[in-house]
Amino acid sequence: MKKHEQIRMKLMKKREEIERRLNKIDQDILHTDGAPNPDSEEQAVERANDDVLDALGGIARSELEDINKALTRIERGEYGNCTVCNKPIPLERLKAIPYTDHCVACADNRTDE
Ligand SMILES: [Zn+2]
Repeated sequence: MKKHEQIRMKLMKKREEIERRLNKIDQDILHTDGAPNPDSEEQAVERANDDVLDALGGIARSELEDINKALTRIERGEYGNCTVCNKPIPLERLKAIPYTDHCVACADNRTDE
């Protein structure tokens, strides 16, 4: 079994989940955009709804990006090392946040900024 194969499987599964979620969000946005409601109050609600969907889509997209980056790092054999200090990231942390590219110390430093 390849190194990090288990984490790779987990990431692939997570990526599928997010892609499904994004598809659903896109469909919801298309649906509301495609059927303009003549009632202006209803329209305002629909617009607010779209904003929420857009925000959700944004979160899912950045998550998807992190996952794709992690998968690329696994393929290149770079996975598991902190991209800031280059020290190995503890396996426990990788299991908890499989797409992280920072060790705890560097992640803490980043939040302090
Ligand atoms: Zn680090």
